[in-house]
Amino acid sequence: MQPIIQAEQLEKVYRSGKVEVKALQSASFTVERGEFVSIVGPSGSGKSTLFYLLGGLTQATSGRIVIDGVDFATLNDAERTKMRKSKIGFVFQKFNLLPTLTARQNIDIAYSISGRTEPLDEAHLRNLTDMLGISDRLDHRPSELSGGQQQRVAIARALVTQPAIILADEPTGNLDTASSDAVLEMLQRSNRDYKQTVLMITHNPEAASIADRILHMRDGRITGVEAGAGRVIHSAL
Ligand code: ADP
Ligand code: MG
Repeated sequence: MQPIIQAEQLEKVYRSGKVEVKALQSASFTVERGEFVSIVGPSGSGKSTLFYLLGGLTQATSGRIVIDGVDFATLNDAERTKMRKSKIGFVFQKFNLLPTLTARQNIDIAYSISGRTEPLDEAHLRNLTDMLGISDRLDHRPSELSGGQQQRVAIARALVTQPAIILADEPTGNLDTASSDAVLEMLQRSNRDYKQTVLMITHNPEAASIADRILHMRDGRITGVEAGAGRVIHSAL
């Protein structure tokens, strides 16, 4: 079967004036459908750049990205946006919740812009928010939630559409241990129970060890691949 993510010879150069930064160089890899892959590497190694490219949030300088059999090069901006909203759930290190909306509204809006025509499955949402321990926080705005709670809302927002692919960039970077475990457990359950493909960027080797496979990055290149331990997470929540 075709891999769900194919990246071929990706290159990204950032230019400002005369300064050029090669953030990614000849990065090639695939992720199989249903796989859980971690990407680890030091700060500045190009991890977030890769995340933005795979999510269609920025364009590669050169190279090819094929997501679920569709080559990004064949899509215009509107089509790429549509694909992103329907197929990919994003989790960011800094949560990126809309500050003026409640937790519930943040989740609802993600669902409504995903292009789903069926109504939101309330039982699924309830199940998600219960597992994440945020069911009683849904009427609060982000400023009234701890960082860990905000990230758990962001996870619910990413998962509510049941996307085929979950892309997470340092999702536990700013969190306390309990919230970090809750986030990792939810990503693992999405993968194991719902067969969603997860690509998680982290610089924490322990977090990375929950994956099936770990890609290492340095200086904009993928420098190695190893099997992950598939360590099972049980959060205390
Ligand atoms: P990581 O997520 O691994 O820390 P990044 O992808 O954020 O790495 O950055 C890779 C390199 O690209 C770094 O040298 C960084 O300074 C540079 N970079 C990232 N984003 C930009 C940008 N928007 N403009 C210019 N340089 C950037
Ligand atoms: Mg980064």
